[in-house]
Amino acid sequence: MFSEGSKEQLRLQWDSLEADKQEALARIRAKKQRNLITEDWLETKLVCNNCASEHDVLIDPVKWKEYANGGYAQDVWSEASKAYREQMIGVRSGYHICDDCGFWEDDDE
Ligand SMILES: [Zn+2]
Repeated sequence: MFSEGSKEQLRLQWDSLEADKQEALARIRAKKQRNLITEDWLETKLVCNNCASEHDVLIDPVKWKEYANGGYAQDVWSEASKAYREQMIGVRSGYHICDDCGFWEDDDE
């Protein structure tokens, strides 16, 4: 009924549909996971002292407690980006310079 050519075309179409489906599933899974992890996180707003832009920040309450009890941001959030640590420091000190105005280098050490 089908020539070899159209069979091959159908297979390619099927593969591409399957790839789309897998991608959508991966997106949903990642979203679910993220929501679960950040479910009980504190949400707060940071205002940049330089450009006055507002940023929503999510804070892990367990880590925040560690930090509030005298931990260093670089120890408590050792796996986070420097920009995120700057935000946490900003939340505590009340002084914050946002990403766009930031003068620090983003590093992944
Ligand atoms: Zn700014």
